[in-house]
Parts: sequence; structure tokens; C-alpha cells
Amino acid sequence: MEFRDLKTQYYKYRETIDLAMQQVIDQTAFISGRQVRELEQQLENYTGVRHCISCANGTDALQLALMAWNIGLGDAVFVPDFTFFSSGEVVPLVGATPIFVDVEKDTFNMSSISLQEAVEKVLKTTNLHPKAVIAVDLFGQPANYEEIRKIVKQFGLRLIEDGAQGFGGQINEKKACSFGDISTTSFFPAKPLGCYGDGGAIFTNDDEEAQILRSLRVHGKGIDKYDNVRIGMNSRLDTLQAAILCEKMKFLDEEIGACQVVADEYTKRLQSYVKTPVVTIGMKSAWAQYTIQLASKEQRDTVTQALKQESIPSAIYYVKPMHLQKAFWGLLPDGFACPVTEQICATCLSLPMHAYLSVEEIEMICETIKKAL
Ligand SMILES: *Cc1c(COP(=O)(O)O)cnc(C)c1O
Repeated sequence: MEFRDLKTQYYKYRETIDLAMQQVIDQTAFISGRQVRELEQQLENYTGVRHCISCANGTDALQLALMAWNIGLGDAVFVPDFTFFSSGEVVPLVGATPIFVDVEKDTFNMSSISLQEAVEKVLKTTNLHPKAVIAVDLFGQPANYEEIRKIVKQFGLRLIEDGAQGFGGQINEKKACSFGDISTTSFFPAKPLGCYGDGGAIFTNDDEEAQILRSLRVHGKGIDKYDNVRIGMNSRLDTLQAAILCEKMKFLDEEIGACQVVADEYTKRLQSYVKTPVVTIGMKSAWAQYTIQLASKEQRDTVTQALKQESIPSAIYYVKPMHLQKAFWGLLPDGFACPVTEQICATCLSLPMHAYLSVEEIEMICETIKKAL
């Protein structure tokens, strides 16, 4: 059994994906080939955002966004405490200070109440200037942008949507990666829209910002890459990856629909035994992960062992709250506690989730969990 089944997907669509890759090799336009702009246009149409700027990965996408806004030394950027390392890593990378904010127990996403408290505390107890919020669409579900946006407005901040796990998700009819002032995503193979290596993209409706981002991703280029008007990065998406993604876009919605069916099958069987994931009414998750919460760390150990014995893959996303990662030691101001994150880290467990999981497999996974409990 696969945790995320990329092989079955490839064999299903092999003919068209192989053809698309072969075309790139025949063209030998490995960097900035026509497929790169074609993909960006497809993603603009899909999300309804004016500009898509593809780049090398989802971490660079976040860093480029902070660079475009000149965020740096003395600035505070608010990031959920429960997320993948990248969401916080990019903040000290540009010289700013991350402030980790607690999350909601039900959705795993940034708590707007904790965000408001954190901004007020930074203003009252530090010399930092609150500048931006990086909200994360964790495990595929969009964050609570309606509430987060109110706080962003109240304090004059900018909002980044880290949609690395959320591409394909929705709030009502609006697609993920359209909720931030700048939104970003990742095409790492295991993400909802994955390529065959590293890849990422940035989304903005602002024409000037788009131009700056296009410059920043190619060595701060002016007229061309030998005219350099700012310090940038080398962060392009390979043509090969763009060509693969153009093909994979054709069945993204179908796969997310299949993942929704898998999620429903899990929830139906598990909801009276463990805490199952909650999707807010009006929202659609891209189901990057299906994550349950157990009653205690000991109970999680028991379940994990039982799954392992049956050769069922599982994973703990995430073992450690961001504020406890050694990399941030000495960088964070005191007094910003995140008790909900600490509890989730001790009890969460992600189960196999992909479009090709059969009802028999789901049944077996759920029976193993129930027996262990
Ligand atoms: C994967 C991920 C990233 C980083 O994406 P890469 O393409 O691996 O650099 C950033 N944020 C979140 C929430 C992620 O899950």
C-alpha cells in the first residue's frame, strides 16, 4: 500500500505525460521553454488570479514574496506554529523575525484569535514592526481567510497564502492561491499538484509586484538577465516540469474529487473512535493529508505500531511545533505560547491518502486502527 500513490497515477496517464516530456527534449528548450508560460496561463485561468510566476520550489516562492515586499531586519512576520518548516524558515532568511501563532484544534489552521493576540503582544512588548502574515492551507484546507483578513486590515499588514498543500482547494467558488495579497504553492511530487522534481509558483493580482517577482526569480534582471537592477535569485521552473504539470492539470479536479470520496469513507468508519479532520462548511480541501488525532501520545504509539505490523504506511505531520525547532533558538521573543499546537503534535497521525486507495484498503486500515484501540 502507498502513502501517496504516484506510480499508479503515472501509469494511468503515461502516454500523454511521456509525449509531453519527449516534446521538451526534442525542442531542447530546457530553461524558459514555451511550456513554462503555457503552464502559468493555465494556472492563472484556474485560480482566477491575474499573474502566475512559476519558480524553482515552494520555499523560494515564499522567500521571493517577502523579498518583493522588502521585508527584513526589524520586521515581524506571523506564521502558524503547526506547519512544514519552510513557512517559517523563509522569515529569518530575509532577516525578519517569525512570530509563531497557535492553530485551531479542528482545522489545524491558524487561529485568528491567536493571531490578533500575537500582533497586539508584538506591538506592546517588542520593538519589532508587524508587517505580514503567512497563513497556511494545511493538509489541503484553506485557512480562515475571512477572519484573518479582518486582522490583516486592522493592523495594516500584508497577507501571504502558503498554498503549498492547498492547490485545488476552495472557499465557496473561489480557488486556493487567490486568498493572499501574494499566494504561493509547491509542486513537490507529493503535493496535490506535483511535478517530477521540485517546482513552485507565486500568484498576485498586482501588475507591478508581478514584474518585480519576474525580475527577482532571474537574478534581479532588468531588460534581460545581463542587466541586473536588484539582488535576486536563480529560481526558474524547468520546462520539463512545466510540461508535466500542464498534463497533470487536466485531471487535478478529478483526483481531488476521488480524494474527497476516500476522506468520506475514512470519516464514516473512524469518527466514533478517533478525532477525524473537520472541513469547514463552504470549504473544499485538496486533501494533501488525512490526519486524525488520538487521545494521547501513548495511544498514537499503539496505533502506529499496529499499522506498521500490517504494512500500512502512516506519518506524523508534524512531530514538533515550529517554536521548538532548534533552528529558531535565540531568534524568537519570549512569551508567545502555542498550547494547541503542542497537543496536536503529540497526538496527530496522517493516514494513506490518494485518489487510488480502494474501499477494501480503507476498510483494512480502519479495522486495524479500531482493533488497536
Ligand atoms: C512543501 C511545503 C512548502 C515548501 O515547498 P517546497 O517545494 O518543498 O520548497 C512550504 N510550505 C508548506 C506548508 C509545505 O507543505
